[in-house]
Amino acid sequence: MALRVAGLTVRYGDVTAVSGVDLDIADGEVVALLGPSGCGKSTLLRAVAGLEPPSGGAVSWDGADLAGTPVHRRGFGLVFQDGQLFPHRDVAGNVAFGMRMAGAEREARDKRVDELLELVGLAGYRRRRVTELSGGEQQRVALARALAPRPKLLLLDEPLSALDRALREQLAVDLARLLREAGATALVVTHDHDEAFTLADRVAVMRAGRITQVGAPTEVWRRPADVDTARFLGCGRVLNPEAARELVGVDARVGLRSTALRVDPAGPLTADVLERVHRRDHVRLLVCVDGEEFEAVAPVAGPPSPGDRVRLAVDHDGIALIG
Ligand code: ADP
Ligand code: MG
Repeated sequence: MALRVAGLTVRYGDVTAVSGVDLDIADGEVVALLGPSGCGKSTLLRAVAGLEPPSGGAVSWDGADLAGTPVHRRGFGLVFQDGQLFPHRDVAGNVAFGMRMAGAEREARDKRVDELLELVGLAGYRRRRVTELSGGEQQRVALARALAPRPKLLLLDEPLSALDRALREQLAVDLARLLREAGATALVVTHDHDEAFTLADRVAVMRAGRITQVGAPTEVWRRPADVDTARFLGCGRVLNPEAARELVGVDARVGLRSTALRVDPAGPLTADVLERVHRRDHVRLLVCVDGEEFEAVAPVAGPPSPGDRVRLAVDHDGIALIG
């Protein structure tokens, strides 16, 4: 076991930002800390880094308590939302910074900078000014800089949040690959569930200072621990077991995502279309089934119009079992 967080509590005056959190991260594992804004994710990450003193509990590495170890002696790498690069240094100067601080020889530094720039897809960018890079390139440099001194643990706080959506999706895939290639042990904070599921071996869901569920991405996605977690993970509707049996044929409390009901001429349900909205790669409908409103999806080609009566099929990938 590499990182162990046990009973960790962090307070700011009267505000308890992190409350009795337990979390283990194994060597080589990538864990995403997922939760809504303000739930205490950054505070937990900062406490692990040593930037925030705990009011209770402990952070340890390989069994050794880190309470007396300052930030720069923990051997952890940090990446924040806005990169925080040194504007007066070029790309190579930024990436080599941690190694310079650690007293690495110039030749070793140069070699490592080339390796890292290759890894993050910026080979040939050594002499570029960081102020002339795009947001996505700057985050790649920040990542290379954090990885360069071979940190024991990489702590990333919303590393992609400042980027626009298309780039974020692409970089999430790249980041997942390069964390694996680097063999990194990492804790990635995010409020975006797609990002968490793309990046992580395990997802820890946080709410109001506590971790409510930890599990493999598919497990958390399919079986959220409670109603609030289900809603946070995109289940706009929660059905009690009776309603779930009737509508989707599942005898349990379930959460329905917007994709749970699909227009399908061979489907078992009859619905009246109330509203229609075009999205990127599908059409979203508001429909009425037996007097109740639900979301449903239709293909972009030939979608039904408000006022139409349609048949719906149930897509079980869009259904989460709660608890
Ligand atoms: P998240 O990263 O999940 O958005 P944070 O860890 O930043 O959440 O914040 C958790 C809670 O602690 C929030 O209520 C926030 O207002 C509060 N908080 C964060 N930092 C400070 C601080 N330096 N002083 C006082 N309160 C803070
Ligand atoms: Mg935060």
